[in-house]
Amino acid sequence: MAERIDGNAVAEDIRADLRSCVETLTAANETPTLATVLMSPDPASETYVAMKQNDCEELGIDALDIELPLDAPAAELFETIDELNADESVNAILVQSPVPDHVDYREVIERIDPVKDVDGFHPENIGKLVAGYPVYKPCTPHGIQKLLEATDIETAGKEAVVVGRSRIVGKPMANLFIQKATGGNATTTVCHSRTENLAEKTREADILVAAAGVPELIDGSMVGEGATVIDVGINRVDADTDKGYKLVGDVEFASASEKAGAITPVPGGVGPMTRAMLLYNTIKATSLQTGVDVTLP
Ligand code: NDP
Repeated sequence: MAERIDGNAVAEDIRADLRSCVETLTAANETPTLATVLMSPDPASETYVAMKQNDCEELGIDALDIELPLDAPAAELFETIDELNADESVNAILVQSPVPDHVDYREVIERIDPVKDVDGFHPENIGKLVAGYPVYKPCTPHGIQKLLEATDIETAGKEAVVVGRSRIVGKPMANLFIQKATGGNATTTVCHSRTENLAEKTREADILVAAAGVPELIDGSMVGEGATVIDVGINRVDADTDKGYKLVGDVEFASASEKAGAITPVPGGVGPMTRAMLLYNTIKATSLQTGVDVTLP
Protein backbone atom coordinates (compact mmCIF):
# COMPACT_ATOMS: atom_id res chain seq x y z
CA MET A 1 0.00 0.00 0.00
CA ALA A 2 1.13 3.51 -0.79
CA GLU A 3 2.47 5.93 1.78
CA ARG A 4 -0.19 8.53 2.47
CA ILE A 5 1.28 12.03 2.07
CA ASP A 6 -0.08 14.23 4.84
CA GLY A 7 -0.60 17.72 3.41
CA ASN A 8 -2.00 19.02 6.69
CA ALA A 9 1.19 18.13 8.56
CA VAL A 10 3.54 19.59 5.93
CA ALA A 11 1.43 22.76 5.69
CA GLU A 12 1.55 23.10 9.48
CA ASP A 13 5.36 22.93 9.43
CA ILE A 14 5.48 25.60 6.74
CA ARG A 15 3.05 27.81 8.67
CA ALA A 16 5.24 27.50 11.77
CA ASP A 17 8.23 28.81 9.79
CA LEU A 18 6.10 31.54 8.22
CA ARG A 19 4.95 32.68 11.66
CA SER A 20 8.49 33.77 12.52
CA CYS A 21 8.67 35.68 9.20
CA VAL A 22 5.50 37.57 10.18
CA GLU A 23 7.02 38.32 13.59
CA THR A 24 10.10 39.80 11.90
CA LEU A 25 7.94 41.99 9.66
CA THR A 26 5.67 43.06 12.51
CA ALA A 27 8.69 43.96 14.67
CA ALA A 28 9.72 46.29 11.84
CA ASN A 29 6.19 47.81 11.82
CA GLU A 30 5.46 46.14 8.50
CA THR A 31 2.71 43.66 9.34
CA PRO A 32 1.67 41.99 6.06
CA THR A 33 -1.80 42.82 4.75
CA LEU A 34 -3.73 40.66 2.29
CA ALA A 35 -6.85 42.10 0.65
CA THR A 36 -9.34 39.55 -0.63
CA VAL A 37 -12.02 40.65 -3.07
CA LEU A 38 -15.12 38.48 -3.34
CA MET A 39 -17.49 38.90 -6.27
CA SER A 40 -18.13 35.33 -7.25
CA PRO A 41 -21.18 33.37 -8.38
CA ASP A 42 -19.72 30.11 -7.03
CA PRO A 43 -21.10 29.40 -3.53
CA ALA A 44 -17.84 27.63 -2.61
CA SER A 45 -15.92 30.90 -3.15
CA GLU A 46 -17.27 32.42 0.05
CA THR A 47 -15.94 29.44 2.03
CA TYR A 48 -12.55 29.61 0.32
CA VAL A 49 -12.20 33.33 1.07
CA ALA A 50 -13.27 32.80 4.70
CA MET A 51 -10.62 30.08 5.07
CA LYS A 52 -7.95 32.35 3.59
CA GLN A 53 -8.97 35.15 5.97
CA ASN A 54 -8.78 32.76 8.96
CA ASP A 55 -5.36 31.48 7.88
CA CYS A 56 -4.09 35.06 7.81
CA GLU A 57 -5.47 35.91 11.24
CA GLU A 58 -3.94 32.79 12.77
CA LEU A 59 -0.52 33.82 11.55
CA GLY A 60 -0.79 37.50 12.48
CA ILE A 61 -1.30 38.72 8.91
CA ASP A 62 -3.90 41.48 8.53
CA ALA A 63 -6.75 40.49 6.26
CA LEU A 64 -8.93 43.02 4.49
CA ASP A 65 -12.23 41.55 3.35
CA ILE A 66 -13.95 43.30 0.44
CA GLU A 67 -17.22 42.01 -0.97
CA LEU A 68 -18.94 43.39 -4.05
CA PRO A 69 -22.49 42.56 -5.15
CA LEU A 70 -22.69 40.05 -7.98
CA ASP A 71 -24.46 42.56 -10.21
CA ALA A 72 -22.01 45.41 -9.60
CA PRO A 73 -20.60 46.81 -12.85
CA ALA A 74 -17.16 45.55 -13.85
CA ALA A 75 -15.91 49.13 -13.45
CA GLU A 76 -16.58 48.95 -9.71
CA LEU A 77 -14.33 45.91 -9.38
CA PHE A 78 -11.61 47.59 -11.42
CA GLU A 79 -11.84 50.73 -9.27
CA THR A 80 -11.52 48.60 -6.15
CA ILE A 81 -8.39 46.97 -7.57
CA ASP A 82 -6.96 50.41 -8.48
CA GLU A 83 -7.53 51.61 -4.92
CA LEU A 84 -5.86 48.52 -3.46
CA ASN A 85 -2.92 48.91 -5.86
CA ALA A 86 -2.46 52.50 -4.70
CA ASP A 87 -2.88 51.72 -0.98
CA GLU A 88 0.59 51.33 0.51
CA SER A 89 -0.81 49.53 3.54
CA VAL A 90 -1.99 46.67 1.30
CA ASN A 91 0.78 44.28 0.30
CA ALA A 92 -1.18 41.54 -1.42
CA ILE A 93 -4.36 41.35 -3.50
CA LEU A 94 -6.43 38.30 -4.32
CA VAL A 95 -9.60 38.44 -6.42
CA GLN A 96 -11.45 35.17 -5.86
CA SER A 97 -12.37 33.39 -9.09
CA PRO A 98 -14.68 32.75 -10.78
CA VAL A 99 -16.04 36.25 -11.32
CA PRO A 100 -19.50 36.84 -12.86
CA ASP A 101 -19.84 36.48 -16.64
CA HIS A 102 -20.08 40.23 -17.23
CA VAL A 103 -16.57 40.70 -15.84
CA ASP A 104 -13.54 39.74 -17.94
CA TYR A 105 -11.31 37.77 -15.55
CA ARG A 106 -8.31 38.38 -17.77
CA GLU A 107 -8.77 42.13 -17.31
CA VAL A 108 -9.04 41.59 -13.57
CA ILE A 109 -5.72 39.74 -13.45
CA GLU A 110 -3.97 42.29 -15.63
CA ARG A 111 -5.26 45.15 -13.47
CA ILE A 112 -3.56 43.90 -10.29
CA ASP A 113 -0.13 45.41 -9.63
CA PRO A 114 2.25 42.48 -10.35
CA VAL A 115 4.12 43.12 -7.09
CA LYS A 116 0.85 42.55 -5.15
CA ASP A 117 -0.28 39.61 -7.35
CA VAL A 118 0.11 36.84 -4.78
CA ASP A 119 -1.81 34.35 -6.89
CA GLY A 120 1.02 34.68 -9.43
CA PHE A 121 -1.42 34.87 -12.35
CA HIS A 122 -0.42 38.25 -13.85
CA PRO A 123 1.28 37.79 -17.26
CA GLU A 124 4.39 39.52 -15.89
CA ASN A 125 4.64 36.94 -13.10
CA ILE A 126 3.85 34.05 -15.43
CA GLY A 127 6.51 35.35 -17.82
CA LYS A 128 9.10 35.45 -15.06
CA LEU A 129 8.16 31.93 -13.99
CA VAL A 130 8.53 30.58 -17.52
CA ALA A 131 11.79 32.49 -17.99
CA GLY A 132 13.18 30.74 -14.92
CA TYR A 133 13.20 33.50 -12.28
CA PRO A 134 9.80 33.27 -10.60
CA VAL A 135 8.77 35.96 -8.11
CA TYR A 136 5.42 34.53 -7.01
CA LYS A 137 4.90 30.89 -7.90
CA PRO A 138 1.17 30.08 -8.19
CA CYS A 139 0.08 28.59 -4.88
CA THR A 140 -1.10 25.12 -5.90
CA PRO A 141 1.92 24.02 -7.98
CA HIS A 142 4.26 25.68 -5.49
CA GLY A 143 2.55 23.76 -2.69
CA ILE A 144 2.99 20.53 -4.63
CA GLN A 145 6.71 21.24 -5.05
CA LYS A 146 7.00 21.80 -1.30
CA LEU A 147 5.02 18.63 -0.58
CA LEU A 148 7.37 16.56 -2.77
CA GLU A 149 10.40 18.17 -1.17
CA ALA A 150 9.12 17.52 2.36
CA THR A 151 8.43 13.89 1.45
CA ASP A 152 11.94 13.46 -0.03
CA ILE A 153 10.55 12.70 -3.46
CA GLU A 154 13.17 13.66 -6.03
CA THR A 155 11.98 15.29 -9.25
CA ALA A 156 15.32 15.53 -11.08
CA GLY A 157 15.58 13.03 -13.90
CA LYS A 158 12.12 11.65 -13.20
CA GLU A 159 9.16 11.33 -15.59
CA ALA A 160 6.50 13.81 -14.46
CA VAL A 161 3.06 13.64 -16.03
CA VAL A 162 0.62 16.48 -15.41
CA VAL A 163 -3.03 15.86 -16.33
CA GLY A 164 -4.57 19.29 -16.95
CA ARG A 165 -3.25 22.45 -18.60
CA SER A 166 -5.13 25.20 -16.79
CA ARG A 167 -3.53 28.57 -16.15
CA ILE A 168 -3.73 28.10 -12.38
CA VAL A 169 -2.54 24.50 -11.97
CA GLY A 170 -1.47 22.43 -14.98
CA LYS A 171 0.61 24.95 -16.95
CA PRO A 172 2.55 26.43 -14.01
CA MET A 173 3.06 22.93 -12.56
CA ALA A 174 4.61 21.73 -15.81
CA ASN A 175 6.73 24.87 -15.95
CA LEU A 176 8.05 24.31 -12.44
CA PHE A 177 8.85 20.68 -13.23
CA ILE A 178 10.95 21.65 -16.26
CA GLN A 179 12.91 24.42 -14.50
CA LYS A 180 16.63 23.87 -14.07
CA ALA A 181 16.16 24.32 -10.33
CA THR A 182 15.33 22.50 -7.11
CA GLY A 183 11.97 20.78 -7.48
CA GLY A 184 12.42 20.75 -11.27
CA ASN A 185 14.65 18.95 -13.78
CA ALA A 186 11.89 16.44 -14.49
CA THR A 187 11.10 15.18 -17.98
CA THR A 188 7.57 16.47 -18.24
CA THR A 189 4.48 15.48 -20.21
CA VAL A 190 1.30 17.56 -20.13
CA CYS A 191 -2.01 15.81 -20.86
CA HIS A 192 -5.42 17.39 -21.47
CA SER A 193 -8.88 16.58 -22.77
CA ARG A 194 -7.57 15.99 -26.31
CA THR A 195 -4.83 13.61 -25.22
CA GLU A 196 -5.16 10.18 -26.81
CA ASN A 197 -4.41 7.06 -24.79
CA LEU A 198 -4.25 8.93 -21.50
CA ALA A 199 -3.64 5.76 -19.48
CA GLU A 200 -0.53 4.96 -21.55
CA LYS A 201 0.91 8.35 -20.66
CA THR A 202 -0.02 8.30 -16.98
CA ARG A 203 1.40 4.79 -16.46
CA GLU A 204 4.82 6.12 -17.52
CA ALA A 205 4.85 8.68 -14.69
CA ASP A 206 7.19 8.52 -11.73
CA ILE A 207 5.28 11.57 -10.49
CA LEU A 208 1.67 11.91 -11.61
CA VAL A 209 -0.21 15.15 -10.93
CA ALA A 210 -3.96 14.89 -11.57
CA ALA A 211 -5.57 18.29 -12.10
CA ALA A 212 -8.44 17.68 -14.52
CA GLY A 213 -11.45 18.44 -12.35
CA VAL A 214 -13.01 15.08 -13.29
CA PRO A 215 -14.03 12.93 -10.31
CA GLU A 216 -11.85 9.83 -10.02
CA LEU A 217 -10.59 10.07 -13.59
CA ILE A 218 -7.37 8.24 -12.68
CA ASP A 219 -7.81 4.72 -11.37
CA GLY A 220 -5.25 2.14 -10.31
CA SER A 221 -4.91 0.75 -13.83
CA MET A 222 -3.56 4.16 -14.95
CA VAL A 223 -0.87 4.35 -12.26
CA GLY A 224 2.62 2.88 -12.63
CA GLU A 225 4.02 0.63 -9.92
CA GLY A 226 5.56 2.75 -7.14
CA ALA A 227 4.62 6.11 -8.66
CA THR A 228 3.96 9.22 -6.59
CA VAL A 229 0.40 10.37 -7.16
CA ILE A 230 -0.60 13.95 -6.39
CA ASP A 231 -4.34 14.52 -6.52
CA VAL A 232 -5.25 18.18 -7.02
CA GLY A 233 -8.93 17.62 -7.80
CA ILE A 234 -11.66 18.83 -5.48
CA ASN A 235 -14.97 17.68 -6.90
CA ARG A 236 -18.39 17.70 -5.30
CA VAL A 237 -20.34 14.54 -6.06
CA ASP A 238 -23.85 13.72 -4.86
CA ALA A 239 -23.82 11.61 -1.72
CA ASP A 240 -26.05 10.57 1.12
CA THR A 241 -24.54 13.06 3.60
CA ASP A 242 -25.95 15.98 5.59
CA LYS A 243 -24.83 18.36 2.87
CA GLY A 244 -26.06 16.09 0.08
CA TYR A 245 -22.60 15.79 -1.43
CA LYS A 246 -19.06 14.64 -0.67
CA LEU A 247 -15.68 15.76 -1.97
CA VAL A 248 -13.65 13.45 -4.16
CA GLY A 249 -10.40 13.95 -6.00
CA ASP A 250 -9.42 13.29 -9.61
CA VAL A 251 -7.92 9.99 -8.48
CA GLU A 252 -9.73 6.85 -7.38
CA PHE A 253 -7.91 6.62 -4.07
CA ALA A 254 -8.48 2.96 -3.20
CA SER A 255 -7.29 1.39 -6.46
CA ALA A 256 -4.51 3.98 -7.04
CA SER A 257 -3.16 3.32 -3.51
CA GLU A 258 -2.55 -0.31 -4.41
CA LYS A 259 -0.16 0.70 -7.20
CA ALA A 260 1.37 3.97 -6.01
CA GLY A 261 4.40 4.34 -3.78
CA ALA A 262 3.00 7.51 -2.25
CA ILE A 263 -0.30 9.32 -2.70
CA THR A 264 -2.09 12.44 -1.45
CA PRO A 265 -5.62 12.12 -0.03
CA VAL A 266 -8.54 14.46 -0.79
CA PRO A 267 -9.14 16.31 1.43
CA GLY A 268 -5.90 16.75 3.40
CA GLY A 269 -3.37 16.63 0.58
CA VAL A 270 -2.81 19.51 -1.84
CA GLY A 271 -5.56 21.81 -0.45
CA PRO A 272 -3.81 22.80 2.80
CA MET A 273 -0.56 23.36 0.87
CA THR A 274 -2.26 25.77 -1.54
CA ARG A 275 -3.49 27.79 1.44
CA ALA A 276 -0.07 27.80 3.09
CA MET A 277 1.60 29.05 -0.08
CA LEU A 278 -0.78 32.01 -0.27
CA LEU A 279 0.54 33.05 3.14
CA TYR A 280 4.09 32.48 1.84
CA ASN A 281 3.49 34.77 -1.17
CA THR A 282 1.84 37.43 1.01
CA ILE A 283 4.88 37.49 3.28
CA LYS A 284 7.23 37.54 0.29
CA ALA A 285 5.26 40.45 -1.21
CA THR A 286 5.57 42.40 2.04
CA SER A 287 9.28 41.72 2.27
CA LEU A 288 9.84 42.82 -1.34
CA GLN A 289 7.81 46.00 -0.89
CA THR A 290 9.32 47.06 2.44
CA GLY A 291 12.89 45.83 2.08
CA VAL A 292 12.63 43.95 5.40
CA ASP A 293 14.46 40.64 4.96
CA VAL A 294 12.81 37.40 6.02
CA THR A 295 13.97 33.81 5.70
CA LEU A 296 11.21 32.02 3.84
CA PRO A 297 10.96 28.24 4.27
P1 NDP B 1 -9.79 23.53 -15.24
O1 NDP B 1 -11.17 23.05 -15.53
O2 NDP B 1 -9.44 24.95 -15.49
O3 NDP B 1 -8.77 22.65 -16.12
C1 NDP B 1 -8.92 21.26 -16.22
C2 NDP B 1 -7.88 20.70 -17.17
O4 NDP B 1 -8.04 19.30 -17.23
C3 NDP B 1 -8.01 21.23 -18.59
O5 NDP B 1 -6.74 21.49 -19.13
C4 NDP B 1 -8.69 20.07 -19.33
O6 NDP B 1 -8.30 19.94 -20.68
C5 NDP B 1 -8.17 18.88 -18.56
N1 NDP B 1 -9.11 17.75 -18.64
C6 NDP B 1 -10.44 17.78 -18.44
N2 NDP B 1 -10.97 16.56 -18.61
C7 NDP B 1 -9.94 15.75 -18.94
C8 NDP B 1 -9.85 14.37 -19.27
N3 NDP B 1 -10.94 13.58 -19.31
N4 NDP B 1 -8.63 13.87 -19.57
C9 NDP B 1 -7.53 14.65 -19.56
N5 NDP B 1 -7.56 15.97 -19.25
C10 NDP B 1 -8.75 16.51 -18.95
O7 NDP B 1 -9.47 23.08 -13.77
P2 NDP B 1 -8.38 23.61 -12.70
O8 NDP B 1 -7.02 23.39 -13.20
O9 NDP B 1 -8.77 24.95 -12.23
O10 NDP B 1 -8.69 22.61 -11.50
C11 NDP B 1 -8.56 21.21 -11.64
C12 NDP B 1 -9.08 20.54 -10.39
O11 NDP B 1 -8.29 20.94 -9.28
C13 NDP B 1 -10.51 20.93 -9.99
O12 NDP B 1 -11.14 19.81 -9.39
C14 NDP B 1 -10.32 22.04 -8.97
O13 NDP B 1 -11.41 22.13 -8.09
C15 NDP B 1 -9.09 21.54 -8.27
N6 NDP B 1 -8.27 22.57 -7.64
C16 NDP B 1 -7.78 22.27 -6.41
C17 NDP B 1 -6.93 23.13 -5.77
C18 NDP B 1 -6.36 22.74 -4.46
O14 NDP B 1 -5.84 23.58 -3.76
N7 NDP B 1 -6.40 21.45 -4.11
C19 NDP B 1 -6.58 24.44 -6.35
C20 NDP B 1 -7.08 24.63 -7.68
C21 NDP B 1 -7.92 23.72 -8.29
P3 NDP B 1 -8.61 21.09 -21.79
O15 NDP B 1 -7.60 22.17 -21.55
O16 NDP B 1 -8.38 20.37 -23.06
O17 NDP B 1 -10.01 21.53 -21.58
